[in-house]
Amino acid sequence: MLKIAIQAKGRLNEQSMSLLADAGISASSGNRKLISKAKGFPMEILYLRDDDIPQAVAMGVADIGIVGLNEIVEKDEHVERILDLGFGACRLSIAIPREADYTGTAWLNGKRVATSYPRILGKFFADNGIDAEIHEIAGSVEIAPAVGMSDAIFDIVSSGGTLVQNGLREVEQVFFSEAVLIATPGLQEDKLEEIDKLKFRLNSILDSRGMKYVLMNLPRTSLDQAVKMLPGMKSPTLLPLTDPEWCSLHVVIPESELWGKIEMLKSIGAEDILVLNLENIIR
Ligand code: ATP
Ligand code: MG
Repeated sequence: MLKIAIQAKGRLNEQSMSLLADAGISASSGNRKLISKAKGFPMEILYLRDDDIPQAVAMGVADIGIVGLNEIVEKDEHVERILDLGFGACRLSIAIPREADYTGTAWLNGKRVATSYPRILGKFFADNGIDAEIHEIAGSVEIAPAVGMSDAIFDIVSSGGTLVQNGLREVEQVFFSEAVLIATPGLQEDKLEEIDKLKFRLNSILDSRGMKYVLMNLPRTSLDQAVKMLPGMKSPTLLPLTDPEWCSLHVVIPESELWGKIEMLKSIGAEDILVLNLENIIR
C-alpha cells in the first residue's frame, strides 16, 4: 500500500489535507498519530516534521510526500519531483537592517548571515563570489540582527510583514518555493500505478482551482462576439432555448478574469448569468 508523508502540523498541513480531501481521500480522525490509514484511496498517511520528509521519501520510508521545494533543495536528498501543487508559495531572501546602506551583493562580503538554509545560501554565495560567514540557527532567524548575532539574515518571506516588524528589508530574492509532490526514485511498478491514479485525481483538482463555470442567456445575434471573447477549453457549449432568438452559453473562466468577462458579456446583451464553483476538470 502506498505511504504518503505530509507535515504533521505547520503551514503545509492544512492545505495538504484539504488537497487530499478534494481528491476524495480523508484521514481517519485522531490526527496526531504518526500514521493513519486513509479512506477513499488505498494509502497510509505518515505525519512528519517537514524537515524529515525529504529523507523519509529518499529512503523509501514513505513512497511519496508533500513538502516545500525549499526543504528538498536544502536537504539535498535524492527524490523525484512529480507534481507542483500550487500552494505554500514563498521565497528565500536575504534581508538586512532597514537603515543599512545596501550597495549590491558586495555589501555582504565579510558579513555574518543567519539562516536555517545554509546549503541554499552557500550556493548563492559561491555563485556570486560572495565571501560571507554563514551562521546556522534553527529558528527565530529574523531577530538575529537585532540581538547582535548577525548582520543580515537569509530566511523565508511570503508577505514581508515579519521583516518589517523586525526592522529588516529584503535586498536579494534568492529562491522561489511552493509545495511539491515527491516520490522515492525507482519504485516498483505496482506503486507507480497507484501514484498515477493519485496524480490523475490531483491534476483534475489543480486544473479546476481558480476556475469558474459560467452559464448565461444570450441573444443569438451576439453569439459570434461572445465566442471571440471567451476562449473555452475547446469552444463554449451552446444550448438552444425555446425562444429561438436566445441561446444558453456555458463556459469555464479563470477567476482572475471573471468580472472583466462578465462586464463584456453584459455589454453584448447576456442576461441571467450564473457563476458556479468548479470541483474537477477530468481530461
Ligand atoms: P516543522 O515543525 O514541520 O519542521 P516548520 O516550522 O519548519 O515546521 P512551517 O513554518 O510550518 O515549517 O513551514 C513549512 C513550509 O511552508 C516552509 O518550509 C515553506 O515551504 C512553506 N511556507 C510558505 N509560506 C511560508 C511562510 N510565510 N513562512 C514559512 N513557511 C512558509
Ligand atoms: Mg521544519
